[in-house]
Amino acid sequence: MEKIVALCRRRGFIFQNSEIYGGQNGFWDYGPLGTELKRNVRDAWYTDMVRSHNELRVPRGAPSSFQMVGLESAIIMHPQVWKCSGHYDLFHDLMVDCRETRARYRLDQVRCRQVTVDGGTVPGQLSQEGAQAVRPGDQAEFETVYVTSTAEDVSGDLTAEALRVFGLKKKYADRLVWKSDVITLDEIPESDYCRVVAPGATRAGTLTAPREFNLMFKTIVGALGSEDDAAFLRPETAQGIFVNFRNVADSTRVRLPFGVAQIGKSFRNEITPRNFTFRSREFEQMEIEFFCHPDQSRAWYAWWRDRRYQWYQDLGISSERLILRDHDASELAHYSVGTADIEYAFPFLEDGEYGELEGVAHRGDFDLRSHMEGRLVRSADGHLEVERDEHGQPRYRGSGKDLSYFDDQTRERFIPHVIEPSAGADRATLAFLCEAYHEDTQPDEHGKPQHRTVMRLHPRLAPITAAVFPLIKKEGMPEKAAAIYGELRAAGLNCQYDQQGAIGRRYRRQDEIGTPFCITVDGHTASDDTVTLRDRDSLDQVRIPAGRVVDEIQDRLRAAGCD
Ligand code: ATP
Repeated sequence: MEKIVALCRRRGFIFQNSEIYGGQNGFWDYGPLGTELKRNVRDAWYTDMVRSHNELRVPRGAPSSFQMVGLESAIIMHPQVWKCSGHYDLFHDLMVDCRETRARYRLDQVRCRQVTVDGGTVPGQLSQEGAQAVRPGDQAEFETVYVTSTAEDVSGDLTAEALRVFGLKKKYADRLVWKSDVITLDEIPESDYCRVVAPGATRAGTLTAPREFNLMFKTIVGALGSEDDAAFLRPETAQGIFVNFRNVADSTRVRLPFGVAQIGKSFRNEITPRNFTFRSREFEQMEIEFFCHPDQSRAWYAWWRDRRYQWYQDLGISSERLILRDHDASELAHYSVGTADIEYAFPFLEDGEYGELEGVAHRGDFDLRSHMEGRLVRSADGHLEVERDEHGQPRYRGSGKDLSYFDDQTRERFIPHVIEPSAGADRATLAFLCEAYHEDTQPDEHGKPQHRTVMRLHPRLAPITAAVFPLIKKEGMPEKAAAIYGELRAAGLNCQYDQQGAIGRRYRRQDEIGTPFCITVDGHTASDDTVTLRDRDSLDQVRIPAGRVVDEIQDRLRAAGCD
């Protein structure tokens, strides 16, 4: 992962935000190449999910044809939106602070394991080193404590941490007596916190009681703003779609089933932003709300789940590192009949662990009804009903607007059910970067082995599609190369022109940023008007007529699925 992060910085994919001022935790800037890459990710998503669907064609395996339209809603919305959606009350994480190290943790992100030491087998003088606070007076007796680490710090094995806490040398590792499996802090009762040694702390009992922390960024609207004018930066783009359901249905001629797609920034005041861009405080989402008849909603849920899982594979993510994980009943939100996460084995995770790229949820009619009637809760008999205060009034009033759908063919009126594939543009971009990263050794132009880093990005995603080089800076080669470069640009392909340094180094510079094709004008070009075309992955070099470069690259792009 360090190599990927370093490459991203060195070659201008991703920079720490406000780096010259020491950085701002949880915020990232995309450099020139990162901007192209992320734009290609968004474009691929929008093309494949929105533009390629229409009311006349039934996509493979889909229950019927359908329409898709786009939307761009504002980041700041009416505060009532977040009350009815549940975010105002429920969108929080539990956090704890360590009084000793001053670090703050999300409860579910601290690993812990109960451990003690077989004191009788550890020489007394050694046991005097280290943390006194975890041992009572008798030096041979060790207390049972929870040793901890943050999820990404260690390999799930807390041995090193336990040795540190007890002040023992490595050779005494076999004297540790484990009393539990590795669990997370949210599985421990608060009464046990006095026995928890926080990550990096020297004694037990330094954690505060857990507190709820709402993840929405608050801001004040207007010059005279008081608390009454408080508003929130959206933590998801989805609500902008729900509140515009009526507008979209009335202003376009879409008929159910149809989907509304939105790409846009979302903000979450994450307690512990980390793992590069994976968990940021400002990030971009690519969300679809797909509205359908309740009777068909399960079929659509299954279709979207599989369609989205396939999309990542079509763009180069190996099925070995991608999983589709259905939530079990205990993980499901109270309104959902099914949710699946598409997860990727990011290199910063332990073997066998996966990080969420996208959630695909069957949300029933929960969102539209909440914005009609007021926030919904599940009643004792299992039905969703408006939450009421002590006076029997809705706790959060909905808009009162009719968000139902009338099918003029069946003469039926109903509230559509919603399938929500919700992806993160930054997480997808990061997964594509991680998947693309390869190192290999290839012979250079003199046959000498050369180590190269190559980003095997799908040609649809690669920031630069082709690079054009004159072999040397004379004999008319730069002029010819510049002309080819101009033709490629005129054809709408993003290319680079490079005449600096040895040809092998120029190839490697392009390999490192994932450019699929390199074209070289050389000594033969002047006589036979051909150039070499080099393929990034196979390293095959073929001679083609200079006048065919644009067509050849376009053919190869089409063959790779870039239409
Ligand atoms: P997590 O459990 O990782 O916090 P989540 O389940 O809260 O994620 P959703 O609310 O389902 O995430 O958001 C949909 C998508 O938005 C996620 O699958 C992810 O791709 C992206 N996303 C959510 N939070 C972040 C974040 N802090 N940084 C980057 N992307 C994010």
